Amino acid sequence: DSRKYTGMVEDCCCDYETVDSLNNEVLNPLLQELVTTPFFRYFKVKLWCDCPFWPDDGMCRLRDCSVCECPDNEFPEPFKKPFLNRLSSDDLICQEGKPQATVDRTLDSKAFRGWVDIDNPWTNDDETDNGEMTYVNLQLNPERYTGYVGPSARRIWDAVYTENCPNHPSEAFCQEKRVLYKLISGLHASISVHIAADYLLDEATNLWGQNLELLSDRVLRYPDRVRNLYFTYLFVLRAVTKAADYLEHAEYSTGNPAEDLKSQSLVRQLLYNPKLQAACPLPFDEAKLWQGQSEPELRQQIQNQFRNISALMDCVGCEKCRLWGKLQVLGLGTALKILFSVNGHTNVDQPLQLQRNEVIALVNLLNRLSESIKFVHEIHEMDPAIEKTV
Ligand code: FAD
Repeated sequence: DSRKYTGMVEDCCCDYETVDSLNNEVLNPLLQELVTTPFFRYFKVKLWCDCPFWPDDGMCRLRDCSVCECPDNEFPEPFKKPFLNRLSSDDLICQEGKPQATVDRTLDSKAFRGWVDIDNPWTNDDETDNGEMTYVNLQLNPERYTGYVGPSARRIWDAVYTENCPNHPSEAFCQEKRVLYKLISGLHASISVHIAADYLLDEATNLWGQNLELLSDRVLRYPDRVRNLYFTYLFVLRAVTKAADYLEHAEYSTGNPAEDLKSQSLVRQLLYNPKLQAACPLPFDEAKLWQGQSEPELRQQIQNQFRNISALMDCVGCEKCRLWGKLQVLGLGTALKILFSVNGHTNVDQPLQLQRNEVIALVNLLNRLSESIKFVHEIHEMDPAIEKTV
């Protein structure tokens, strides 16, 4: 067997082979269809770039990149330090100018109904604040190469990682924080996979295609990143199946009965999939976490960290990257909310409530992770030693 990854996905309850076959045969085809339905393809998002962390270095210059004078509140000290390597003037300009970096805001006339607006404590944006929100058709804005590179992108990732267990790398102390690290690393790997899978190979002729060298350099050469991708996929999948009661009865209403029925039917096929239930009934076991004595404080601390990561998405200097960054961080925040707030000690009697946008983010995130896993699996099947050959 030439499989590169075997055995159980770390901290999860399913093995790599099972994840690949489930994903390929069942979950990916379902998700791919689900995200094209009207309910799941419109995402409400605040696309302004009002970065609270580096207000004075002029990172964002363009109109939709204005800098916000946010109050100096709970954000950690390292974020406030001026960026040491001063950015050059090229880096200071948001890369919005590149055509592949702008968001297409074309919408059709579908309307939404029947969902309440509530705020997610795991994320920074107030999702009930409709004032600055716009709707974006995700199908018109695939996550792929945008040309957003250099110090501006780099320091976002650096800041995101400094939010994760910087001072206490010891395993025992950090089990829960390690989960957060793996989720971010898994998401980062997935973003890199999407850049590699859909890359602008030749600007002059506008030729798009795969960039396997990039895939290898950024992801495949680091087995931990691949493992974290699988971990994140199972974590989000678990959140989706744990919220089954809620998701099954939610109102998938956009004013297009045929399409809405399709959304609902596909959601049910995903939630109650016999193959999934037989092969991987508990993709991740959240009950093993939050066992320590410092549990309420730890939860609060991790929640604050995640909110900071969510706030960092406002500093992403490319509109389309910001869109997908925000969507996927909201999706992760929703997964965390489902797995760690419901039946948790803080609000044991409160039934799970999700807002429409959280459901959309959660499902689209799962689809992105599913696409990444499929791509990595296919490339490994083609050439198990790919990282050595490109
Ligand atoms: P980066 O991907 O920037 O990585 C920086 C450093 O982080 C690496 O050197 C390594 O030390 C570490 N690292 C990398 N991957 C992992 C991992 N999986 N786990 C742990 N550590 C890791 N660009 C696009 O073209 N399209 C997009 O849609 C897009 N979306 C983005 C969304 C966000 C939120 C951000 C912050 C950036 C986005 N970018 C996007 C930019 C892209 O992620 C890279 O930053 C850019 O392509 C430059 O890559 P790099 O080689 O410098 O490494």
